[in-house]
Amino acid sequence: MIIKARGENLELNTFHCLRVRKKLEKKDEDNYKSLKKGWHGELQFDQLLLGLTNECLILNNLLLEVSNTLFQIDSLLMTQKKSYIFEVKNFDGDFYIENDRMHMLTGKEIKNPLIQLSRSESLFRQLLQELRLNAVVESKIVFINPEFYLYDAPQKGPFVFHAQLNRFLKSLDNAAGTTGVSDGRLRFAKRLVDLHIAKSPFSKIPAYTYEELEKGIVCKRGCLDYEDTNRQTLVCKKCGFVEDKETAVLRSIEEFKLLFPDKQITVNIIHEWCKVIKSKKTIQKVLTKNFDLILSGKGSYYVDKK
Ligand SMILES: [Zn+2]
Repeated sequence: MIIKARGENLELNTFHCLRVRKKLEKKDEDNYKSLKKGWHGELQFDQLLLGLTNECLILNNLLLEVSNTLFQIDSLLMTQKKSYIFEVKNFDGDFYIENDRMHMLTGKEIKNPLIQLSRSESLFRQLLQELRLNAVVESKIVFINPEFYLYDAPQKGPFVFHAQLNRFLKSLDNAAGTTGVSDGRLRFAKRLVDLHIAKSPFSKIPAYTYEELEKGIVCKRGCLDYEDTNRQTLVCKKCGFVEDKETAVLRSIEEFKLLFPDKQITVNIIHEWCKVIKSKKTIQKVLTKNFDLILSGKGSYYVDKK
């Protein structure tokens, strides 16, 4: 049973919107790529856990705090007897560990997931103690990518490699057993969800301003080349994608809200943001139909429908 779904990755979504409208520096582009890759790995692992047949509780993407220290858990799986912390890594290529440091075969050092995992596990135990909750905790690093290889991997390391995944999941299923989970366990899991911190302070999104971003509507395939044909549709000059104007404008408003949550939505700003739509009336129509108008002294603006 999923107690907490992974949800949307706002950081990744913001990056995604941003990089179409602004040339990112190399380090930001690298951050975006690794974030995207990591996220895909986590989604893949979610699918695998859904294949478990015996009753267990799944909590994805938890950000928790204990003693003023934040820690993140990719996936937490609770059976009646045990809680499993999973750190999912979607690395590919050849790696080795030397003196507690993890390197790619090329020599490039990457953050050692073992250190990350033992930190999360220790903080999780502290949190359980604080909450006076009892659980046996086991943690694992799941290397989900079949192209990953770790030289001289310690036999007793907390690793699950791609080739071991199926067997590992079977053993999890067996460990979960057919007896199910008690109401106490369920309350325990829900307590953790209540403690989850929704807004992560660890964002790697680079600074940006409204003014510097390229305006226009991004087509569904990711180009910024729509042309207003004066009909009900927009046509992408680059990839040929055709889209209903209202749908396209609405998607663009969602992007605007994500990138500028503090800015008011007005006809003028959305007209400027969408750029390609010639008539302000079209923008006004879409806004009036899909949002609530708030009249205020200086000018009116739109908010989500109640
Ligand atoms: Zn296109």
